Amino acid sequence: MSCLFCKMVNREIPIDPVYEDDELLAFRDINPAAPTHILIIPKQHIATLNDLTPKTAHLIGKMVTKARDIATEAGFAENGYRIVMNCNSDGGQSVYHIHLHLLGGRSLQWPPC
Ligand code: 5GP
Ligand code: ZN
Repeated sequence: MSCLFCKMVNREIPIDPVYEDDELLAFRDINPAAPTHILIIPKQHIATLNDLTPKTAHLIGKMVTKARDIATEAGFAENGYRIVMNCNSDGGQSVYHIHLHLLGGRSLQWPPC
């Protein structure tokens, strides 16, 4: 499997996890776009949101809930934050293993360019 995030799940690439359980892994983005920029991924390889199925859809709820929990623990849940999932080329996806971006710690602009 040549997927970068699968290699992180399997520890073929060392990471410093922010959170891990049997289904999810969270770690800091290598190129942060905000003071806190964390990626939350399912351990299961799912290439894009288009590949989500009824059997894997529960993972999205877990990912969003975990983002909320991390934002709360980091202390910026009240001020606000953003979660983003990019899909395919027009959506700006660059790693083809679904991931939720959690961005917080500064005021974010909308719409994104
Ligand atoms: P996408 O553009 O697919 O929505 O987001 C992929 C994210 O993965 C980018 O924000 C990018 O900075 C991050 N990323 C790419 N390679 C690595 C890596 O080796 N380590 C970490 N921690 N993040 C990475
Ligand atoms: Zn993968």
